[in-house]
Amino acid sequence: MDTATAKKVDPVLLQLQGIVGEKNASDAKHIRYAYSYDLSFVEPKLPDYVVMVQNVEQVQEVLKFANQEKIPVIPYTAGTNIGGLCIPERGGILMDLKQMNKIIDIDVADGVAVIEPGVSHAQLAAELTKLGLRFGWPVGPPSASVSSCAISHGIGGLNARYGLQSQEITSMEVVLPTGELVRVGSCAIQKNAWHSTLPLPKLDGLFKGWLGSSGVVTKMGVNVHPAPPLLKIFTVSCETVEEMYSYMFNLSNYEICDDITAVSWWLSQVPIPYPYTPKPDDAAEWNSYATTFSWTEAERDARAEIWEKVVAEEKAKGSSIEITHYPEEALKGRTQLPSQVVGSTKNYCKQGGAGISWPGTFTPAKKWAPVYTRWREILIGHNLSPSVRMSMYRGVHYGMLRAMIPFNKQSKEETENARQAIVECLRVDLDEGGIPYKPPVDFAKEINLRADQGYLMLLKRVKNMLDPNDIMNPGKLGI
Ligand SMILES: Cc1cc2nc3c(=O)[nH]c(=O)nc-3n(C[C@H](O)[C@H](O)[C@H](O)COP(=O)(O)OP(=O)(O)OC[C@H]3O[C@@H](n4cnc5c(N)ncnc54)[C@H](O)[C@@H]3O)c2cc1C
Repeated sequence: MDTATAKKVDPVLLQLQGIVGEKNASDAKHIRYAYSYDLSFVEPKLPDYVVMVQNVEQVQEVLKFANQEKIPVIPYTAGTNIGGLCIPERGGILMDLKQMNKIIDIDVADGVAVIEPGVSHAQLAAELTKLGLRFGWPVGPPSASVSSCAISHGIGGLNARYGLQSQEITSMEVVLPTGELVRVGSCAIQKNAWHSTLPLPKLDGLFKGWLGSSGVVTKMGVNVHPAPPLLKIFTVSCETVEEMYSYMFNLSNYEICDDITAVSWWLSQVPIPYPYTPKPDDAAEWNSYATTFSWTEAERDARAEIWEKVVAEEKAKGSSIEITHYPEEALKGRTQLPSQVVGSTKNYCKQGGAGISWPGTFTPAKKWAPVYTRWREILIGHNLSPSVRMSMYRGVHYGMLRAMIPFNKQSKEETENARQAIVECLRVDLDEGGIPYKPPVDFAKEINLRADQGYLMLLKRVKNMLDPNDIMNPGKLGI
């Protein structure tokens, strides 16, 4: 670069280029634009700078500088969160971590993989498969980050057995907003011990569910598990959400499944109908698939025997439940994860105009039926499909209740229509005791409106302690 050009360069950019190298920091509009939006209804906003960090030291240096200058920093890995969580509320530095993508270790004896934040589901799956190991892959884009999903309380295909992705975290290395490097879990006591966050005080909670607003995770240990070879999938359909809930509740009590999920007719369509299309009269409103992996044929048959007993019990209650044959391709896509079949957003929304948002919630299972019934009315009232999924978590009796809502992002009116419908759905769920995960700011505000004052005080106090200049993904917590 000649001296005349260098003079024009913004001093912040120069400083960032000094840390990460000239080609890894930019204020070019076309680069910033790529980070200004996602699939969701959240309004696009440009960051002022984009930096592509390569190592922990660079993360620290960028944060030290940003903290000193009070410039916001937004951590980013693949931006697939569907909640505008990486869209800058107040400009600042978009920190893209995807090139920090080393799998540092897979410790088969401990059952732990140690990864950097840029490691994708596809990348880790490829390595684990070679070792006969598995992890609870989400039904999302294979290119998304394992650690971002885990710190965001993501949901994967082993949730009924092992719990949420965040429950699989065993240790973390984190750079605080001040640039200081810290560790939580066993790796804090012995640097190569990544096996557990327990029995220490659970400081890992300071970085889980915070939407990138409390620090930048630079290393993470996650539990990985032996993969039994025999997969059996139990598929049923029924007419009403009450019947489906009853079946899922009953089946989950036996704790024989890795995943127990049901989807409404609209969510089982590829793509999800947009705008709303009535379901054909001869199609069941609910379909369920429950996966179970076994080591031997006898174990698999014993699990199948329990499942058949559950179906018989439901029938005896007068349920319309039927054992069904799920189309092979759809079943593969939903159960052999990570999957490009369902992970590809085109299957959800391309034809609808490339927008997709959700009210994604953790809701007591006994509330699924009343909440779905209201959601159905609200969504159809807005000409949107009630494309809803319900999944049980480990040990029952709460789980994921979410709607995947495609909309036409090319139209402001249609985007606003979707936003209004989704926020209305969310209010219904919050009032029934549900809580949204990966919440856009609109949801965070609704959460805080209902929150206990002591909770809000504590949240603000902890945030202020970790991030005194409010530089980390500011605004996302709605406080
Ligand atoms: C079609 C579709 C289906 C999906 N299905 C699922 C599903 O089944 N289950 C599920 O859980 N999710 C699902 N998702 C959501 C999404 O794919 C996951 O949440 C994903 O793992 C997020 O990873 P990411 O790399 O895109 O994170 P990003 O969107 O880049 O980041 C997510 C959040 O983490 C923060 N962050 C990122 N890196 C760091 C870091 N190192 N330190 C601190 N904060 C950080 C960001 O600021 C942001 O707040 C789906 C998405 C799509 C598009």
